[in-house]
Amino acid sequence: MNHEGFLEVITGPMFAGKTTELIKRVERQIFAKRKAALFKPSIDTRYSEDHVVAHNGLRYEAYIVPTTEEGVKKIVDLTKEEGYEVIGIDEVQFFHPSIVEALNELADEGVYVIASGLNLDFKGEPFDVTRELLVRADNVVYLTAVCTVCGRPATRSQRLIDGKPAPKDSPVILVGGRESYEARCRLHHEVI
Ligand code: ADP
Ligand code: MG
Repeated sequence: MNHEGFLEVITGPMFAGKTTELIKRVERQIFAKRKAALFKPSIDTRYSEDHVVAHNGLRYEAYIVPTTEEGVKKIVDLTKEEGYEVIGIDEVQFFHPSIVEALNELADEGVYVIASGLNLDFKGEPFDVTRELLVRADNVVYLTAVCTVCGRPATRSQRLIDGKPAPKDSPVILVGGRESYEARCRLHHEVI
């Protein structure tokens, strides 16, 4: 068995530098002559179609895969067919729960898996996929952002609708309203 199998999870709130850290770690492996690839879910189309892009503009080519069980299978199949030694997955919290065992097994089989995902949703509740990966990880990189209110380390993602804290029961997709996200510390994270 290949002894480089390893599961690493990068987590934290929005703007913590998760995508930047993921790209950096995958790029280092490419410099180390490992065969590596990045994957991201197809619903994340914020900036581009075929790249992983961080909030600071850093970008890297990536496979775009559906978040479904079939999409998860696609990640596994591509990794095996292409013989990737290192894979990075961004926005991992959006994938079907089957991604947890899929990535854990790839690590068992010798792949260095780096998964990056949000810790908590806008309500402050854990994303199941991230949580399940965290407890299986060989290494966890827990990043913080800067709280937009007080400047202290931010561990939470604040959702704002027309500038006000989002209600707990607000729809996932908004029609008409303007929404945005900010990094906040525990004290300044608000859900109404
Ligand atoms: P993530 O993937 O965790 O959302 P990115 O790697 O895409 O994070 O972006 C991190 C970058 O976001 C930082 O390097 C910084 O330039 C920018 N940024 C914007 N707002 C904040 C904030 N409140 N705290 C920290 N960084 C911020
Ligand atoms: Mg990101």
